[in-house]
Amino acid sequence: MTTSTADMLHPEIEALEHDDLQAIQRTKLTALGKRLSAAPEWVAHFGESGMKPDDLADPQALSNLAFLQKSQLRERYPFPMLGIDGAKVDRFCATSGTTGLPVLFGYTQRDMQELLANQVARQLYAHGCRPGDRGYNGFGFGLWVGGLAYDLGMARLGMTNFPVGPGRSDLVVEWMRDMEWSLATVSPVFLATLIRTSREKGIDPKTDWKLKQAVIGGQSVSLAFRDELEAELPADFKTYNTYGTTEAGGPIVAASCPWSHARDEMHLINEDTVLTEILDPETFQPVGPGEVGEIVVTTLDKQASPVVRWRTRDLVRLSEHPYDFPCGRKGMRNIGRIIGRSDDMLKVRGVIVYPSQVEDVIATTPGTVKEAWQIYVDTPGSAPKQMVVAIERERSYNGADNELAEAVGRSLTSRLGLKVPVECHPEGTLPRYEAKAQRVLVRD
Ligand SMILES: [Zn+2]
Repeated sequence: MTTSTADMLHPEIEALEHDDLQAIQRTKLTALGKRLSAAPEWVAHFGESGMKPDDLADPQALSNLAFLQKSQLRERYPFPMLGIDGAKVDRFCATSGTTGLPVLFGYTQRDMQELLANQVARQLYAHGCRPGDRGYNGFGFGLWVGGLAYDLGMARLGMTNFPVGPGRSDLVVEWMRDMEWSLATVSPVFLATLIRTSREKGIDPKTDWKLKQAVIGGQSVSLAFRDELEAELPADFKTYNTYGTTEAGGPIVAASCPWSHARDEMHLINEDTVLTEILDPETFQPVGPGEVGEIVVTTLDKQASPVVRWRTRDLVRLSEHPYDFPCGRKGMRNIGRIIGRSDDMLKVRGVIVYPSQVEDVIATTPGTVKEAWQIYVDTPGSAPKQMVVAIERERSYNGADNELAEAVGRSLTSRLGLKVPVECHPEGTLPRYEAKAQRVLVRD
């Protein structure tokens, strides 16, 4: 195996050892503390932990600061903790608002054109995109940061962008062939729809498309579903998982290279601009290799709406081997795909259940619709007495509903160690989600 920097857009950063990345983080934390000292809301926030922003100059200080939570941002509606004069904000993005009113996050001109553009361009380059390549931006625009982020990243890399946004599958599958797009940024569910639409029109995605990379955002996708998508597309095609949040500044916290893709992992690829802690959700101590923790982020360079120790509530497993990768990104730790949200974690009759475990079972059971499934619980909160899994049966599947439900039920029992009732519905009847799916719903 070769260690080369040829696949890095920013080898001067990407090839650094972890210690050297941490040195950059320390310098930037000191500067961040200085900036926040001028912002009364931030001074008050540090004050609640008995600290002041300038304390960030001490490398030990960060771990003493209380986490930043969504409720604290909501209290400061409408422009929470901007950190700078509001007139300097060029654009606002917002969280999806699936759990309440959207929270606004500001971007200065520099936050977009320098920071976000470079973060996303680095990721695209790691996926194998190169200047001159043609990209179809199928992410949403408006308040969501996804579409904006990939517009900026493609422009920075020198790619040609077709910002179609979500939907218009009839048009997209023809343009995909005729314009020879090599990159698609798209939800995995919509990519599956595109493959189906294409076949219906007599266009074979495997031979008629030139697609090489799909950036999968918004939803975590199981290994089985990923493999299924890749089997239907050209031989050199791969789906590249990415992870990020609006609070962290965009879809920029983690992304896979071809090597980490093979292991179903992602690099924390922007650690020079986003400091990521992976903490045990109960003790809040850093987890070790192979352990599950919650991602906590601190934006180091963002001018407007910085976050310091933002609790994402997203749970991931730190790689068994967090350093020294054949791709040459020696210091950029690898994480698995998102396992679930710490507040989505269910404790059913004493057994811990993550929605992603249910997803894995559905993804590997033939005859189920992969993108449509729900967990219904009888009471709000994380400890329901009863949970029911609802699945859809594919139209083309020959077996009976009860056989399919029993097959899923058996796998769930062996996977979870818990007997779970399974309902089977016709294809097209359960809810669909464009961005983050809400897999757990309360039903009486
Ligand atoms: Zn890599």
